[in-house]
Amino acid sequence: MNLYNIADPTYVRSLKDAVLQSLAPNKGLYMPTVIPALDQTFIQSLSDLSFQEISFHIAKNLIGEAISDKDLKSIIDRAINFPAPLSPVGDDIYSLELWHGPSLAFKDFGARFMAELMFYFTKEENKKLTILVATSGDTGGAVASGFLNVPNTEVIILYPSGKVSDLQEKQLTALGGNIFACEVDGTFDDCQALVKEAFSDESLSTKYMLSSANSINIARLIPQSFYYFEAYKQLPKNGKKVVYSVPSGNFGNLTAGLIAWKMGLPIDHFIAATNINKVVPDYLESGIYESKTSKATISNAMDVGNPSNFVRLQEIFCRDYQNVKTMISGSYYTDRETKDEMCNVYLMSGYVCDPHGAIGHRALREFVELNSEYHGVFLETAHPAKFEEVVNETLNIQIHIPSRLAELAQKQKVAVQLKPDYPLFKDYLLSR
Ligand SMILES: *Cc1c(COP(=O)(O)O)cnc(C)c1O
Repeated sequence: MNLYNIADPTYVRSLKDAVLQSLAPNKGLYMPTVIPALDQTFIQSLSDLSFQEISFHIAKNLIGEAISDKDLKSIIDRAINFPAPLSPVGDDIYSLELWHGPSLAFKDFGARFMAELMFYFTKEENKKLTILVATSGDTGGAVASGFLNVPNTEVIILYPSGKVSDLQEKQLTALGGNIFACEVDGTFDDCQALVKEAFSDESLSTKYMLSSANSINIARLIPQSFYYFEAYKQLPKNGKKVVYSVPSGNFGNLTAGLIAWKMGLPIDHFIAATNINKVVPDYLESGIYESKTSKATISNAMDVGNPSNFVRLQEIFCRDYQNVKTMISGSYYTDRETKDEMCNVYLMSGYVCDPHGAIGHRALREFVELNSEYHGVFLETAHPAKFEEVVNETLNIQIHIPSRLAELAQKQKVAVQLKPDYPLFKDYLLSR
């Protein structure tokens, strides 16, 4: 597998380089030079295969010879060791539950697979790998648990102070070991900017082997394409067209869906569902992309004003706006509308959505109401217990907290306080 730098398409590197560098020169993102189509017999035989078998086949198709079959198989078996069940919620509406992993969010897929690949690619070299990650909530928790106790690796997590839930904060700050947290007095975009700046700082790259665990790393995207196939396998085959509604922030998840589609999965349409941080729905409406400062919402993992994977999304369509628009619709909702949807779903079906999933549900519901030839899947990206306060207050229930989360809540928070100022962040990195 080779990957090119979107900022300079003549710059082509191996999977190992792209995974370890994360970001290419000039802050460019890596994209596969080719996304090979799978053969149709594979797609027709999905229902005979386990999730792990499907994942292996897709990974092999993308990665090719970069990892031996035997090693790739054991990487998949360790990383993808929890299911992605599809649960019917309403007429023609299915929830793809992506929260069955250790941190209860879909980011476990990407983080666990990336931790495996990084360990695989560095185990020969005798250097310590430092992973920098900016999080608006869920990334940090998934990355922290994915990398906890991985030898020769340390993880530094930056998160915006006061903008993540208490339980999310514990997932970032209470694991200890090789996981370190920085609480930044600013927004997620400030955190992301500090990380990006550190990567383009050559004086750091001589001292550290730095890598990123954000969705800018291609290793995060690869496993996220697996569950689009797994969902398709579980959908009833009733001749209806298929739409996926993807609650989106940095647009890694949606991009992974597009990669699945490019590999030949018969998806007819995508919905980019967001909260009021709606730069992509606005782009889909007008053809003009304008980044904005992000605003805080109850679906905080999607509070992103300048989605890092937007360039990848465009790349899939050869930067042709008309093509993008044909395949993807945009929808966005306020916190009020999100809460109303959580209530409606709960009243109609007893199903509890987290605020992110509720946005995906609402966009899907409105789409299938208008387009009866479709049935569809919304990605339920987090367990509702991760957003305990909003969920309990909105639905007037006491949600059960899974034990893996309840145990963390008892632990001590440990974080370094930082201003969103690059020289200060650099001092912190160098003084460690
Ligand atoms: C990260 C996250 C999202 C947004 O995913 P992107 O790939 O960044 O678009 C949505 N929901 C939850 C719960 C998340 O943690």
